[in-house]
Amino acid sequence: MTLWRPMAVPQTFRRLMVNRITYKFREACSIESVKTPKLGENDMLVKTRFVGINASDVNFSAGRYDPSKKPPFSTGFEGLGEVVQKGSNVTLPLSQPVAYMSYGAFGEYHVINQREAIPLPVMNKEFLSLLVSGLTAGISLEKTGEIKKGETVLVTAAAGGTGQFAVQLAKITGCHVIGTCSTDSKAALLKELGCDRVVNYQKENLGDVLRKEYPRGVDVVYESVGGEMFDTCVNNLAQNGRLIVIGWISGYQSSKGFATSKTSSSLPQRLLPKSASIRGFFLFNHSREIKPTAMKLFELYTANKLKCLIDNGVNSDKGPFLGLESIFDAVDYLYSKNSIGKIIVEIPSVPGSKL
Ligand code: NAP
Repeated sequence: MTLWRPMAVPQTFRRLMVNRITYKFREACSIESVKTPKLGENDMLVKTRFVGINASDVNFSAGRYDPSKKPPFSTGFEGLGEVVQKGSNVTLPLSQPVAYMSYGAFGEYHVINQREAIPLPVMNKEFLSLLVSGLTAGISLEKTGEIKKGETVLVTAAAGGTGQFAVQLAKITGCHVIGTCSTDSKAALLKELGCDRVVNYQKENLGDVLRKEYPRGVDVVYESVGGEMFDTCVNNLAQNGRLIVIGWISGYQSSKGFATSKTSSSLPQRLLPKSASIRGFFLFNHSREIKPTAMKLFELYTANKLKCLIDNGVNSDKGPFLGLESIFDAVDYLYSKNSIGKIIVEIPSVPGSKL
């Protein structure tokens, strides 16, 4: 938890821009200096303190979010910062810490509309993990997966940015939770988070475990890996089971992107006899749920009922991540499979410095 002093507004600041459409994030983006824009009456200028790294940062630079978008365009989905300048209609005070999900968040400063600002009691980096990552788990499990007490929920990439919250929120609902991961240290952590059955898929075959220990199948899958993992999950759905397609990370660092697996043509045969379903989820289609769910998650965290695992890269070769330049390393780190929890990058209070 850190307290910050209000700052003067500079004439220019630096931000990451996508200049070339590719999933290779380093080749797609560069850091550029821009003039600090004039604010509209509902806008606020925020000095960025922390930004969140997401698997889909490479999808955004690859033009998979909006194929009609032409470079250059700014990038980054979420951040925490403090208000340093505001338009005439903005009611929040200067120095107010805020959280926001807004395209173009990877900058030393960022202009947001006051509608996008979620005021925070203090500048606490854990809150950042509750935005894209926490909200995706919170909204999708309830609204799309319709999880219920007593059901069995399988979470893939369970020790990741969003997986950690899916595990905990399903436990809070009273579900039996299975989590997948690839290392022993992640497995130990998932146990601590309350996972009932952890499958380190480097040591155990997930399909074998599910067939042997869960012969009835699983009721809900929070699936974000894709490829073979997706197929194994579909094959092990229970009657009336629901698989939420959260992501397809195994395809993101290739030209395939969200391309489906080779067995997708057999889906009717695998779903119909079980009345099972596959349901897509995209957070930014659920704007009405965002603020109420964020408040619920903030309360759970503040009441010590929800843990926020944060990874600033301190255990990686290039960490801890500090400054815009570190965003490239942080994206690589997410794809190294070594990160645990939500990857964040701190943006120094004095731009360009290590302070
Ligand atoms: P993350 O889970 O923190 O990081 C990646 C983790 O994924 C790795 O540590 C690794 O964990 C696992 N993984 C499995 N196969 C992988 C592969 N081939 N390459 C890299 N990682 C692999 O990342 P995140 O940002 O929270 O995103 C997780 C997923 O959720 C992504 O698919 C993302 O697109 C999705 N997502 C979707 C939404 C939405 O609105 N639909 C919102 C947020 C995130 P193990 O090694 O332990 O398996």
